Amino acid sequence: MWPGIALSLEIEEVLYSNKSKFQQIDLYQTRNHGKMLVLDGIIQLTQSDEFAYQEMLAHVPLFAHPNPENVLVIGGGDGGVLREIARHACVKTIDFCEIDEEVIKVSKEFLPDMACGFDDPRVRVHIGDGNAYLREQKNKYDVIIVDSSDPIGPGEALFERPFYENLKAALRQNGIIATQGESFFMHKECVANLVKITKELFEVQAYSYILVPTYPGGNIGICLGSLGPQLKTPCRTMSDAIQKQLNYYTPKIHEASFVLPYFAQKMFETL
Ligand code: SAM
Repeated sequence: MWPGIALSLEIEEVLYSNKSKFQQIDLYQTRNHGKMLVLDGIIQLTQSDEFAYQEMLAHVPLFAHPNPENVLVIGGGDGGVLREIARHACVKTIDFCEIDEEVIKVSKEFLPDMACGFDDPRVRVHIGDGNAYLREQKNKYDVIIVDSSDPIGPGEALFERPFYENLKAALRQNGIIATQGESFFMHKECVANLVKITKELFEVQAYSYILVPTYPGGNIGICLGSLGPQLKTPCRTMSDAIQKQLNYYTPKIHEASFVLPYFAQKMFETL
């Protein structure tokens, strides 16, 4: 995934290693960064900083929407994004579609502080390909969050234009999508392609970025598209009780995350 550069974490123990029907799944105990989930050799999360990614991927689109009631999550088998969505009392249903049941099982066994997201009674779990699931959903969701792995293996189709067309068709009026947007330092071509697709398909488009030290390059983006609401400022207020539960997201960092380095701003302007 990252020719010429590598990230190393010190491992104490291999807790789980198995090839599922879809991918190689490894779960490690690291020395300093908690447990780490790796799929097909690519770091998906460490317990030390997973909050940054989960909070931003969930709260940026949800707080940009005036009244999100029906939410869909594609991917995200660890449950962390579900944990964050569940903090929103206005959300009535949370459909969840993950291709690999084994990732859910591993998370429930080794990452209970993330898999607790599955305990929310609003969550309805569907096991299957997110793209196939989406093709059957029309005019249904206020917010769709795509917490996919990378564009190799089972996640490949989730980075292509037909998938984004299906995302758009599955949205209700004023709907918002937020997808795992890779890193503008590490994957310029992939990020440019996602931004181009969302610019072409959605009335409002924006790209937000998150600091995550244990992802190679130390950052990852969120590609957002909206059928109406602007994206860059929260349009609902957050209670103090919710804010106190969080570790990364604040209304200010919501806004700041859209202020891009100049090279990225220029790259996106030309698309
Ligand atoms: N936070 C992570 C990151 O960006 O590095 C993503 C984590 S989450 C574990 C990614 C999940 O997407 C995996 O569990 C994988 O099985 C799932 N996935 C990949 N392709 C999928 C597809 N076509 N449909 C549904 N889920 C998919």
